[in-house]
Amino acid sequence: MAITTLTDLINAGLTLDSAAALAPVTDQFRLRITAEMAQTTEGVARQFVPTLNELLIRAEELVDPIGDRVHEPTEGLTHRYPDRVILHATQTCEVYCRFCFRRETVGATGHLPEAALQKAIDYIAATPAVWEVILTGGDPMTLSPRRLASLIDRLAAIPHVEVIRFHTRVPVVAPDRITDALIEALKTRPAVYVVVHSNHPAELTQAACAALARLANAGIPLLSQSVLLKGVNDDAAVLEALFRTLTRNRVKPYYLHHADLAKGTSHFRTTIAEGQALMATLRGRLSGICLPTYVMDIPGGYGKVPIGPNYLSAQSMDYLVEDPNGNRHAYNDLT
Ligand code: SF4
Repeated sequence: MAITTLTDLINAGLTLDSAAALAPVTDQFRLRITAEMAQTTEGVARQFVPTLNELLIRAEELVDPIGDRVHEPTEGLTHRYPDRVILHATQTCEVYCRFCFRRETVGATGHLPEAALQKAIDYIAATPAVWEVILTGGDPMTLSPRRLASLIDRLAAIPHVEVIRFHTRVPVVAPDRITDALIEALKTRPAVYVVVHSNHPAELTQAACAALARLANAGIPLLSQSVLLKGVNDDAAVLEALFRTLTRNRVKPYYLHHADLAKGTSHFRTTIAEGQALMATLRGRLSGICLPTYVMDIPGGYGKVPIGPNYLSAQSMDYLVEDPNGNRHAYNDLT
């Protein structure tokens, strides 16, 4: 049974704070932890268990840190880059992550009403530049296989949509949802990519790995995204184990996100310099196929960019390239 109330949380022994003290937190930001995640380690649970730290809202924190709403041509659709859109087909998730940059909207409603969904699909159909549709935040894999198949069919009927990408926590936090019916729904003409959100190697339980194997065996390309979180995974050994475990399970680590300026999340944020140092350490230890790109979503909706570390410095055509051990080597770029 999932934990959805403060009483459930306290009965499960997952918090030291009292229900009365935490009530203002869960009044603002929803609570849900699946049974799978409630049974893992403290490092994993920290991502889902509310704390009083969340009541500290800093001046720089934003309701919509990555600017979904700034680029919303119609309800439930974000069109930030010319060739791709984000479709928020549902606001429901299997877990509510305490650091989520959409924490003020996830869980607020269920799936997008049919009239709004049709308007979003009409917009995509009328915009030939849209090559890829990203289904994300809430979690699209909380939709029933029947609803998902219908949505995919409607997108597949648009000839210029070549790729459908899922951003999901489901294979990790609720692996039983990866059923044959769901996998059948994903076998379609636009290429389907599944990007799995995972932040700690202990999340990748036997059941989670089995769910990933079902997807991989069906021929569905798998990538991952992780968020760098203080007290959860801001440690080279933890990240190394996470990226090795993902790769071993046929999931290519894709992005490591610098934590966004979501309200009440400063206790999770590292500095950029700490993130760069971790990435530099990992480059020296891990095979290239295990390494994600460290990225930041520029607050305000200005897009996502790699933020290092930087291995190159230049004077005119003379570059210095830094190797994974921190040694610098000259490179002359004359053509
Ligand atoms: S959208 Fe993703 S990160 Fe946000 S609460 Fe849902 S599962 Fe967690």
